[in-house]
Amino acid sequence: MFSIPRLSKKIWPETLFNWVYLREQRKTIVSLSSLSETHQMLQRTCRDFAEGELKPIATKTDQEHLFPKKQIKQMGELGLMAVCIPEEVGGTGLDCMSYALAAEEISRCCAATGTIMAVHNIYLNAINNFGNKKQKEEFIRPFTSGENIGSFSLSEPGLGSDAGSVTTKAIKKDSLYYLSGTKSWTTNGLESKAAVVFASTEPSKKHKGISAFLVKKSFPGFVVGKRENKLGIRGSSTCNFIFEDCPVHEENVLGELGKGFNYAMMILDSGRIGIAAQACGIAQASLELAVDYAKKRSAFGAPISKMQSIQNKIADMALRLESARLLTWRAASLKDMDKPYTKEAAMAKLAASETATFNAHQCIQILGGMGYVTDMPAERYYRDARITEIYEGTSEIQRVVIAANILREYEL
Ligand SMILES: Cc1cc2nc3c(=O)[nH]c(=O)nc-3n(C[C@H](O)[C@H](O)[C@H](O)COP(=O)(O)OP(=O)(O)OC[C@H]3O[C@@H](n4cnc5c(N)ncnc54)[C@H](O)[C@@H]3O)c2cc1C
Repeated sequence: MFSIPRLSKKIWPETLFNWVYLREQRKTIVSLSSLSETHQMLQRTCRDFAEGELKPIATKTDQEHLFPKKQIKQMGELGLMAVCIPEEVGGTGLDCMSYALAAEEISRCCAATGTIMAVHNIYLNAINNFGNKKQKEEFIRPFTSGENIGSFSLSEPGLGSDAGSVTTKAIKKDSLYYLSGTKSWTTNGLESKAAVVFASTEPSKKHKGISAFLVKKSFPGFVVGKRENKLGIRGSSTCNFIFEDCPVHEENVLGELGKGFNYAMMILDSGRIGIAAQACGIAQASLELAVDYAKKRSAFGAPISKMQSIQNKIADMALRLESARLLTWRAASLKDMDKPYTKEAAMAKLAASETATFNAHQCIQILGGMGYVTDMPAERYYRDARITEIYEGTSEIQRVVIAANILREYEL
């Protein structure tokens, strides 16, 4: 059983350093000197956890579509299920850079677990940013330990990229809003106990009529639809949520009425840093596997790592990965400094997700036939990588965001 003290700003330096120091010697860790000692320790801790607890179950999790319940509980104990949530409401109270480092390490060993963690943290961040004290007590505190999972339900069958066109309605009668409509693609759909759900309170106002609601699965009229059978990240569930006149008390409106679309866009900005980090984790795993295999596999009397065409692939993989990671860290640092980071988060997500796909593709190529079968994880990396180019805004949408920001900058 993996057991270390819960991460917290207070206990880190001494306790964790000793714990990590003993285990760290044998591991090659990705770290740049620009990371603080505290961040490096967190990175090593997460890597040790992921190597010991997630890597061994990643294939089974994928093949049997299993939710890694025990490991998510351990991550809760470690503080990874509420990384950026203040300690006052039960969170770990760390910064976005810590979250990015943790998300990369988790996803390097099991991208499905990375998805579960990412969307749960998005749920919490939405409530932490826009919720009141009572809502935080009810919808954050019980969700910080890995026991209860949350989800974030914005997309619908008729909309994904065009998030301002929400058709799910919330009609008010007395102090209750009655939600009706179908939300789609909700990550953690099966396991979550509560969700941030976006519905229109004033359809005539289009995106300015969208509001966010805190909805528990136990509310009447909340039906969970079928589980999607996905290409990758198969340990995380993805479901429709169907609302059939589901009553939600007005106290469960998150923030201000009509601000839901703005809230969603702000939360997705920070969520993109998490997905970028997840993509870096998949890209890193692909690079490591490719290098290891190239050194061991011989052809024409020498290891294939001696061949220049293989070396070119390895060089391109490493270059793209380091670039994407630096973009991810830059976006996280800007967020931590309370500076604008919308463009930078989009750049990080775009670069990292395309790198994950590229590296997983090259990894399969370097492994040859062994890349194509389930005996080795290369094919899983490839399948897992593709989602990072789709959710939390497709690559096309990231380019729209980046270009809009650049064009605005040049107007000044
Ligand atoms: C596994 C999985 C998990 C998900 N989890 C969640 C979740 O937890 N919560 C949630 O709310 N949603 C979730 N989603 C939904 C996800 O965010 C959407 O699938 C994504 O935003 C794309 O929307 P769409 O599928 O409707 O594609 P569409 O928006 O229909 O896009 C189709 C194509 O058109 C392109 N396109 C659309 N608009 C433009 C444009 N303006 N310019 C250029 N190209 C454009 C797209 O890039 C894409 O290539 C998840 C999806 C998947 C597959």
